[in-house]
Amino acid sequence: MAADCIFCRIEKGQIPSKKVYEDARCFAILDINPVAWGHALVIPRAHHETWLDLPADLAADLAKSSQKVGAAVKKAAGAEGFNLLMNNHACAGQAVFHAHLHVIPRKTADGIRFNWTPTPYKPGQLDMAIDAVMVAF
Ligand code: 5GP
Ligand code: ZN
Repeated sequence: MAADCIFCRIEKGQIPSKKVYEDARCFAILDINPVAWGHALVIPRAHHETWLDLPADLAADLAKSSQKVGAAVKKAAGAEGFNLLMNNHACAGQAVFHAHLHVIPRKTADGIRFNWTPTPYKPGQLDMAIDAVMVAF
């Protein structure tokens, strides 16, 4: 429990937010400012800042919970699919520093854009990137 963390306070019931899903280690709420109807957040009960800070067994449990929440939200929204995404650190858009997964229901041509701008590597740069990542393990 981090006293200044909004998701810890929701988990403890100190801030009202209906939990649409709960298990021993995780819970889910609907995002107060959704990208799409039914946009849900799947949250571990314990306070850890990012995906990399989660103990591996808790990350596995969070992943399992996200499958259940993903199926329910997809069904409830009458969606054809969904995005499962996570912002880690402020530079990547994380605003609440308690690790959580977003489940965003999607329909064909729903107009949602994540504004990614993929750019191909210049010649030789892909091989350099592969080497840099492989030595970082
Ligand atoms: P992040 O940018 O950290 O990945 O996402 C945090 C999300 O939490 C945002 O989409 C924001 O709308 C949502 N959020 C922040 N405060 C609350 C709250 O008090 N209740 C609910 N239900 N969602 C919240
Ligand atoms: Zn927290």
